[in-house]
Amino acid sequence: MSAHDDTSGQTPLIDGFGRTISYLRLSVTDRCDLRCTYCMSARPTFLPKSEVLTLEELETLCAIFIERGVTKIRITGGEPLVRRDVVKLIEHIGQWRHVTPLRELTLTTNATQLDRYADQLAASGVERINVSLDTLDADHFRRLTRIGEIDTVMRGLDAADKAGLKVKINTVALANGNAREIPDLVAWAHGRGYDLSLIEIMPMGEVDEARPDQFLSLQSVRQTLEERWTLTDVSDSTGGPARYVRVEETGGRLGFISPLTQNFCEGCNRVRLTCTGQLYLCLGQLDRVDLRAALRDGGRLAVERALDEAMQIKPRAHDFAIGTDRVAGHVPRDMAHTGG
Ligand code: SAM
Ligand code: SF4
Repeated sequence: MSAHDDTSGQTPLIDGFGRTISYLRLSVTDRCDLRCTYCMSARPTFLPKSEVLTLEELETLCAIFIERGVTKIRITGGEPLVRRDVVKLIEHIGQWRHVTPLRELTLTTNATQLDRYADQLAASGVERINVSLDTLDADHFRRLTRIGEIDTVMRGLDAADKAGLKVKINTVALANGNAREIPDLVAWAHGRGYDLSLIEIMPMGEVDEARPDQFLSLQSVRQTLEERWTLTDVSDSTGGPARYVRVEETGGRLGFISPLTQNFCEGCNRVRLTCTGQLYLCLGQLDRVDLRAALRDGGRLAVERALDEAMQIKPRAHDFAIGTDRVAGHVPRDMAHTGG
């Protein structure tokens, strides 16, 4: 199956609140070569490979999403680049840009494998990538990721620059982790010509630390940054949940993704497909439809029907919230399972 030029006969994906869904986040694996303390436990249980969709099945589902009006696909995970042959999937989907409604194919990665893949990604039509990095300190990186070497990330970033990929850094703000390092991370990223987005920790899955110990409000981070720099609000949007400012002194862009302190669900344009074919309609809720069952048992028409059903059950908002001693709205799925 391929994505067709003519989508005029297809019904767009519009949910019960009138929001048009144009952005698919596609998790191609729940596996990862790091073990970030806020993302997963030290000994995570990964899914058996038999449950995971094949690359062909993922491609078929992407084609259907594009025919229903999806214009942006972000490949994520787990660590997407640890899935064998994922670059072939990216190459195939990349060919659909501009001959279908698909306008952007992008990737979220921890960058550990980027020095091997940056050229191929660029050649496949990926123009921008998000790289997750929460500290610049090698020892701290090792503690936060439990097993990572920051040199591999830096080599990956150099390769991305060389390949001409536009990089945005994602940094999770951690009260017990990188609070004091955030200004240096922003200065470093802007110095390399990268945007940086800060993210509030969300209560996803089971991790070994208490979420309230990790949670750091981006409102307070912004106040701290304003003691050092002038932040000017800008109306730029990349189709995601970040609100942006320009840091006048560095000239760079800084995003704030604040699911707990500044709700952005009203403008939600996203759905998330896990590597087992479960389509989650909201990161912070359990509502889902099973596209793997639909595809394997009923084929394309069944997937179409499942998407129509999905639009009826997409929730209005997540329930993440911060109380005095707890982070509310916990969902049992790991972030690495749903895809960031
Ligand atoms: N492995 C890739 C990476 O780290 O970029 C892609 C998957 S990772 C789950 C996607 C993003 O989710 C990363 O930026 C990560 O920092 C973020 N993340 C993981 N757990 C989170 C949590 N509990 N709350 C907020 N962000 C989280
Ligand atoms: Fe892996 Fe990304 Fe989760 Fe870190 S945040 S453990 S790199 S999936």
